[in-house]
Amino acid sequence: LEEQNRFRNEHGIKAVGRHIPSALKDFTELTSRYNIKPALVDTVTQCGYTEPTPIQRQALPCMLEDRQILACAPTGSGKTAAFLLPLFHVLGGAQGGPRALILCPTRELAHQIYRETLRLSASSSLRCSVVKKYREALRLSASSSLRCSVVKNVKESKMKEREATIKKSDIVISTPNRLCYLLNQDNVTISMDKVRWLIIDEADKMFEGSEEQARDFRQQLQQVLAACGGKQRRVAMFSATHTPAVAKWCRHNLRGLISITVGQRNA
Ligand code: ADP
Ligand code: MG
Repeated sequence: LEEQNRFRNEHGIKAVGRHIPSALKDFTELTSRYNIKPALVDTVTQCGYTEPTPIQRQALPCMLEDRQILACAPTGSGKTAAFLLPLFHVLGGAQGGPRALILCPTRELAHQIYRETLRLSASSSLRCSVVKKYREALRLSASSSLRCSVVKNVKESKMKEREATIKKSDIVISTPNRLCYLLNQDNVTISMDKVRWLIIDEADKMFEGSEEQARDFRQQLQQVLAACGGKQRRVAMFSATHTPAVAKWCRHNLRGLISITVGQRNA
């Protein structure tokens, strides 16, 4: 225990919670401790990751032991891989679902996460997709009432396309807006029952936008949580800053929570 504390201190890791898994010494421990496929560890090494970043050292073992976390670490400290690697391991091969959902505040970020997913999942067959928006039909329908039924059909077929893509994906990445917009379509039925992990990236941005944005986000989050209602569902939050609103939400909603902070609390 003493030694663990020293090791965490050396790497600027603070962890609060019960029965916290010990921090990772190196990536090969993923195989020796958690039976992660050597091919996945090889991909990580080929990406030029020689050793885990501090947030990866603590977040990876927590998620691999199925623990819900609030992980705060500065921008650029490797939070994406910290949640992707456990997803790849627990999801195994391609079987659709979706079985993991990643929410983030902007579409740029969604695509950034998508690219990192493609890079790190090179050794696996898992499918990943980004939920796209649908604007065109709506714009057309606003300009002409005559074309309404045509537009409606176009819109419906596009929505059906999105629905099919999501069902085929193991991992789905989306902004809360786009996901909820799709879930709220009358003729779209996407089951989130199989979702094992809900990842919320850049949680601080979503909880702390304008008052209106923050309220919308909370509502959307409740809707998504209710949809991912399975007993097996876990939540992991990632954030660059330690914000009271996020911490409070996690304390109230995530059983067995482990809070991990790297570096300054308000970096
Ligand atoms: P964050 O989400 O914390 O802002 P990212 O996940 O975007 O950070 O990672 C920042 C950069 O660091 C990316 O280019 C990523 O590929 C790289 N990276 C992640 N983990 C490691 C690692 N263990 N060693 C070296 N580079 C890494
Ligand atoms: Mg990030």
